[in-house]
Amino acid sequence: MLNRWIKVLKTYKFLMIFTVGVIATGHFFGNYFLIQGEKTQKQRLMDVAIMAAASVNKEKLTDLKDNISDEQNQNFIELNEQFSSIGEKTKNLGIRWIYSMFVIDGKIYFSFDSTIPGSSDYEPPGGEYKKPPKELSQLIKNKRPIVTDHYSDEYGSYVSAFVPILNEETGDLIAIIGSDMEYSEYSRQVNKNLLFPLITTFLAVILVFLTSAYLLRLKKSRENIEDALNRAQHEKAKAELLISDVSEPIAVLDAEGCLTYVNKAVEEVLGCRRDQLLGKSVFEILVIPEDKGNMLNLIKNVHDRLMIKKKKVMFSSLDSGIDLVCTISGKKLSVMLTLSPIIISEKVVGMIGVLNDITHIVKVDRMKNDFISLASHQLRTPISKMRWMIEMLLDDNSAPISSSQKDLMNKLYDTNQRLIQLVNSLLNISRIESGRIAINPTPVDLVSSVKAILSNHQFMFNEKDQQLSFESDKIPEINIDFKLVGEVYKNIISNASKYSPKGAKIIIKIYIENQKVITEISDNGYGIPAKSQSHLFQKFYRADNTAQIDPDGSGLGLYLAKAIVESSGGKMWFKSVENKGSTFWFSLPLKGSRAKEGSVSIESEK
Ligand code: ADP
Repeated sequence: MLNRWIKVLKTYKFLMIFTVGVIATGHFFGNYFLIQGEKTQKQRLMDVAIMAAASVNKEKLTDLKDNISDEQNQNFIELNEQFSSIGEKTKNLGIRWIYSMFVIDGKIYFSFDSTIPGSSDYEPPGGEYKKPPKELSQLIKNKRPIVTDHYSDEYGSYVSAFVPILNEETGDLIAIIGSDMEYSEYSRQVNKNLLFPLITTFLAVILVFLTSAYLLRLKKSRENIEDALNRAQHEKAKAELLISDVSEPIAVLDAEGCLTYVNKAVEEVLGCRRDQLLGKSVFEILVIPEDKGNMLNLIKNVHDRLMIKKKKVMFSSLDSGIDLVCTISGKKLSVMLTLSPIIISEKVVGMIGVLNDITHIVKVDRMKNDFISLASHQLRTPISKMRWMIEMLLDDNSAPISSSQKDLMNKLYDTNQRLIQLVNSLLNISRIESGRIAINPTPVDLVSSVKAILSNHQFMFNEKDQQLSFESDKIPEINIDFKLVGEVYKNIISNASKYSPKGAKIIIKIYIENQKVITEISDNGYGIPAKSQSHLFQKFYRADNTAQIDPDGSGLGLYLAKAIVESSGGKMWFKSVENKGSTFWFSLPLKGSRAKEGSVSIESEK
């Protein structure tokens, strides 16, 4: 129970202190202004009484004392008029009566006053004052002016000031001059004066409260900010400490791509010091040498994917065949760079970069490619010779051969043909991966070039009774390397036929969309199972359903087709539903492909 109260006290301590403060201040100021108000009123009463006393002629007064009840006495009339005129002037101060009293044989009698004879409250002179306030007996004793507290007598409730008039020679009391204020009026005057200071005090207290509450809030939020800052600095220091020694090269970049932190491993990979790197843009530090176009493409891709789509970006020298150069150290690097966005409140505020030096891996990969290239190359000559020999045997009519021997020879020819295709595919892939393939764009009439490929493949459609339809927009000449792009058409068209049953329908469309030439090849064939779709463009991948239908495929055609389309500046994608059919699309830039120097070209696949 006690604990509960302590808790309540602690929680509301500010409110309580404030409440007590307001009450105490109100009380203090209330009292203060009340006392001040009373003082003012009493002073006013006293001033009027003194003024009236000073105006009275003492001789006339002494004379009147002996004729106390004589209303016709000239002195009475004069003094009465004199007080009436004072009363007239002081009425607006709330003073009800100004009057003179005589003390005779210890009793107090009224004489003239400020009321006009004949008026309703006129008191005839000589009347005894029966219930005087106690302060009057004090005055009679010590003959000093006095102001009473609130008292009641036979006439009502009053607060009064009394001033003695003394005989200057004897010091005897001649008369007492009084000024009265009715108590109701007195309170009204005091309270009237109290209202304004009380309101201002109250407003001042509210102001103090609001100011202190604001200051308190300010202090609290400053403390919170300091707290958060401390915590953030602590976390930052912890994170920096953690990543500074990690073997992975990690960098922190701001939204513009400038480095704000790099760990030791980054320094080692780039071969430069931290202070040379910090504050510089990653795109100034790592560049694609002598290829501004590629570099600009890279920057645009990073910006679009990271800042707009808020997704991570990867650049790999292994996939692109492009090495980067560090402009500070001059070091040439094969890298795998991953940039992930740092998102706060749905806004990309920076990035985390991981920069792995994969020079060694790329070297091994290039060695592997070189080996495949060499092996395929070496294999090609004997296999081609074999084909030539088989062809000679098949054409040789000098000695008769049985039909089963001829059948075997034909099968041998087909197998040899597939071997040649496989070796060509391997060669092409190793060439495209090594980046050695040259791209030589020339103006091409795409529609008639594709029609030529279709007529070369007509035998495939005829064999399976498949219907082919071709539609196209009016396509202007487009600058592409058709030696390469033609391989893409051949692959996709032959796949559409291969992976569709007899009597299937194959539709080819070429049209322009968003500054791109799009080719759409659809079939209503076997389709690609959903589980296989994500692997489709991988090297050697073949979907289960079609692997049984055509056991001779290599799974290299689509991989190569996609690589060719991308190196020509386009994209490839597809949609497929198993047992319903597939549609493949690929785009080529209407403005044409960019030329690329290279030492080799591609071998025709099919
Ligand atoms: P290949 O035809 O030599 O197997 P590709 O790389 O051209 O190699 O094709 C890879 C695989 O993709 C094929 O084995 C097949 O499973 C699937 N595929 C490609 N085109 C189609 C298509 N039009 N319909 C159904 N499956 C297809």
